[in-house]
Amino acid sequence: MDFAHSDKVRALIAQVETFMAELVYPIEAEVHDWNNDDRNRWQPWPGLADLQAEARSRGLWNLFLPREYGAFSPGLSNLEYAPLAEIMGRVHFASEIFNCSAPDTGNMEVLARYGTPEQQAAWLEPLLRGEIRSAYLMTEPAVASSDATNIQTSIHRDGDDYVINGRKWWISGIMDPRCKLLLLMGKSNPDADRHLQQSTIIIPRDTPGVSIVRNMRTFNNWHSPGGESEVLLDNVRVPVANMILGEGRGFEIAQGRLGPGRIHHCMRSIGQAQRALELMCRRAEARVAFGKKLSAQGSVRQDVANSFVEIEQARLLTLKAADAMDRYGNKQAADLIAAIKIVAPRMAQAVADRAIQIHGGMGVSDDTPVAEAFLLNRFLRLADGPDEVHMAQLGRLKIRQYAGS
Ligand SMILES: Cc1cc2nc3c(=O)[nH]c(=O)nc-3n(C[C@H](O)[C@H](O)[C@H](O)COP(=O)(O)OP(=O)(O)OC[C@H]3O[C@@H](n4cnc5c(N)ncnc54)[C@H](O)[C@@H]3O)c2cc1C
Repeated sequence: MDFAHSDKVRALIAQVETFMAELVYPIEAEVHDWNNDDRNRWQPWPGLADLQAEARSRGLWNLFLPREYGAFSPGLSNLEYAPLAEIMGRVHFASEIFNCSAPDTGNMEVLARYGTPEQQAAWLEPLLRGEIRSAYLMTEPAVASSDATNIQTSIHRDGDDYVINGRKWWISGIMDPRCKLLLLMGKSNPDADRHLQQSTIIIPRDTPGVSIVRNMRTFNNWHSPGGESEVLLDNVRVPVANMILGEGRGFEIAQGRLGPGRIHHCMRSIGQAQRALELMCRRAEARVAFGKKLSAQGSVRQDVANSFVEIEQARLLTLKAADAMDRYGNKQAADLIAAIKIVAPRMAQAVADRAIQIHGGMGVSDDTPVAEAFLLNRFLRLADGPDEVHMAQLGRLKIRQYAGS
């Protein structure tokens, strides 16, 4: 394994860092205020489209989509994308500027991998151009959705259409006015084998019968991080051509979708943790209590050292998982993807927690990004699969590998 960056990646790292320094960090506070002002709720910050155009013109666009997708991909491997995603992750909203944000990235990957040419022309291409956004509808309030075989929303064939009925919640991005596409996972073949009962289907956002029940509130805040909502699907009718890959293939698609998405989240978590570490060092060096700098306190140095160690460990594991995805495919890399999804959010939450403590009262304010990093990583220990589910799957894989059962 050689994790030294190629010249091409070093150049891209420099370009993304320059972009962040010139155009993203300076507007970070303004965008944060915009997103947290109830009057603007779900509306994109007005300067976003210009920044996206600038990122695109500099070739910093869709970098997440691995080169196996040929003409759709800008040509990077997962390993090459990792340091770029980490830099983008340092600012919560930055990945969207580069058209590299969830849930669109996972949906684009589904359409690129499994979509028909017609589905790709209608939905993938506008997503790749950043003209529309999308949502992924899997989780349901009525069932433990970390077990995707529990999903109840029905997809029922009726002539040349499918009719969809059910209720979803925690649906990221659906309140964004640019969201035009929903990818829904539901049950189409209830009598089939457990893992062949589900399908994934395309629903245009404006289809009659799709309605928002409520917006999710989190941690006593009006905003959940991605504008998550509860959604009702009441006799939603779409043509049969909207089925992706065929009836009964939804579980397979969900597995294919979530692997890359999970590692992208981890790359961004590492960026958040790295930034929190840098901020905690600067704060500790700048602040004096009881006659000496905070940075001279042994406990503070320990916090810094532990944070550095944990970030380095997580970064190496992320690179190893990305490398395995490139070499052997997402399925073969499932153990390492699960491992990093368990490690990275917990690590980043712990580092952000130390950064909060070292900042004192400022740490829980919105004056630094460390409180947000703490929350985002708390969410991430649930989103895209709770820690325990990854542990159960990883444990099963390893027992099978080492005990052959
Ligand atoms: C910010 C955020 C954004 C999200 N965005 C989306 C989205 O866009 N689309 C979407 O479909 N969903 C989304 N989700 C939902 C998320 O994927 C689910 O919450 C998650 O998969 C868990 O499902 P559940 O909530 O039904 O929990 P449950 O399945 O009820 O699980 C509850 C708890 O049970 C425990 N548990 C479960 N299985 C095991 C096991 N095998 N061993 C031990 N303990 C276990 C775990 O502690 C788990 O947290 C989002 C969630 C959040 C918080």
